[in-house]
Amino acid sequence: MQARKNRILAEVTSRLPSTGRMSLFGAVFAASLLGVVAATAVVPGSDELPFPAESVLERLDLPLIEVAPDLDLPFVFDERIQSGDSIQSIFRRLGIDDAEALSFLNTDQEARQVLRRLRAGRSVIAMIAHDGRIVSLNLPVANGGERYVIERTPEGISASGQVTAAVDTLVEMRSGTITHSLFGATDAVGVPDSVASKFAEIFGTQIDFTRDLRQGDRFSVVYETVFDQGVPIRTGRILAAEFVNQGKTHTVVLYREGDGNEAYYTPDGRGLNQAFLRYPLEFTRISSSFGRRLHPIHKNWRSHNGTDFAAPTGTPVKASSDGRINFVGSQRGYGNTVIIEHRDRYSTLYAHLNGFPRGLSKGQRVRQGDVIGFVGMTGWATGPHLHYEIRINNKPHDPMKLALPMVQPLDKKELGRFKTETTPMLERLAMLNYATNENVAAAQ
Ligand SMILES: [Zn+2]
Repeated sequence: MQARKNRILAEVTSRLPSTGRMSLFGAVFAASLLGVVAATAVVPGSDELPFPAESVLERLDLPLIEVAPDLDLPFVFDERIQSGDSIQSIFRRLGIDDAEALSFLNTDQEARQVLRRLRAGRSVIAMIAHDGRIVSLNLPVANGGERYVIERTPEGISASGQVTAAVDTLVEMRSGTITHSLFGATDAVGVPDSVASKFAEIFGTQIDFTRDLRQGDRFSVVYETVFDQGVPIRTGRILAAEFVNQGKTHTVVLYREGDGNEAYYTPDGRGLNQAFLRYPLEFTRISSSFGRRLHPIHKNWRSHNGTDFAAPTGTPVKASSDGRINFVGSQRGYGNTVIIEHRDRYSTLYAHLNGFPRGLSKGQRVRQGDVIGFVGMTGWATGPHLHYEIRINNKPHDPMKLALPMVQPLDKKELGRFKTETTPMLERLAMLNYATNENVAAAQ
């Protein structure tokens, strides 16, 4: 059966005219229509064809190409919408000759809606018969993930069902061990950078990845990957994650709160966005390595009331916890400064900034991780760094000592709902860890 599918694919591919427009994407799209699994990593946002040419050429090498040449297999085209395109100009480029389809698209109410909202850069996927008539046509709906599909049936052209969502979100699970850096370890098991950075941010109230990371630390992460027509196009949310740092296990899980906001919690129901980031700077590949030359500038915080983090000028500075902006501006020795007010008379201060994001103003609500400034050396600073203070009742406290225990767990009623909703995900994580540990045991 598999061989038969490959044969059909090979046939579709072999009909590619030398100047043809049928893309490799199209070929693989055909493959997925026929049930052949073809998955390859793709750089998100890349304009390159997501599938390397070799994967198709290999298929052509199969010694099974004996499909009758008159078998009327359609061509599959993947065409990028250009600015100024109309459905007529797209038809012309693809060599579609189908007055009936055009008339359907121009008269059907729903189709007209879709045509009005065609956006440059999105793709149209067409299966076209040898006579130039459409077998099926798959159009993007505005900028969203939905697709609108029409197809030819014995009765003529019709919309295939309603507007269909062709975007699938799949959950991936990965785990690995740190050898020299977080990004090195995530690379090794195929975790995208966006997930690795988010991972560091999620654990940022419990671990300072620039200082606390050790060889042999282990991570597991459960995250979403969004596929459009079978092609991975971007990563979604991290649903759960675990980090074993210096022998201590930290676990987080995503939870939708009563007000609809999603936030990360410990398994015992403490919201991490209520705690304070230990490293309130964007975590990048540069900050990821064990080389500590960037961080921190060692000073006794007692005499100095804060912690200094050396970082290149322009590095984004993040709100350390949920709160409200209480001050944006210049303060003598501090230079450009932001102060955020948090719950229970906590506040945080960020000094020596190079500048602020456009529009940041007093009274504005911010969430943990929002960018509130950029590293600089304004005020009394000898080099670019962030001066960071946590105050309680306006009295400075050592940020490194204010960890999670001060965050109250959810109240009893909400805690029940929390347990019910997060248990399946935590079980999944536990399974992943079990499998990983088995493998480690087997390898030893
Ligand atoms: Zn300082």
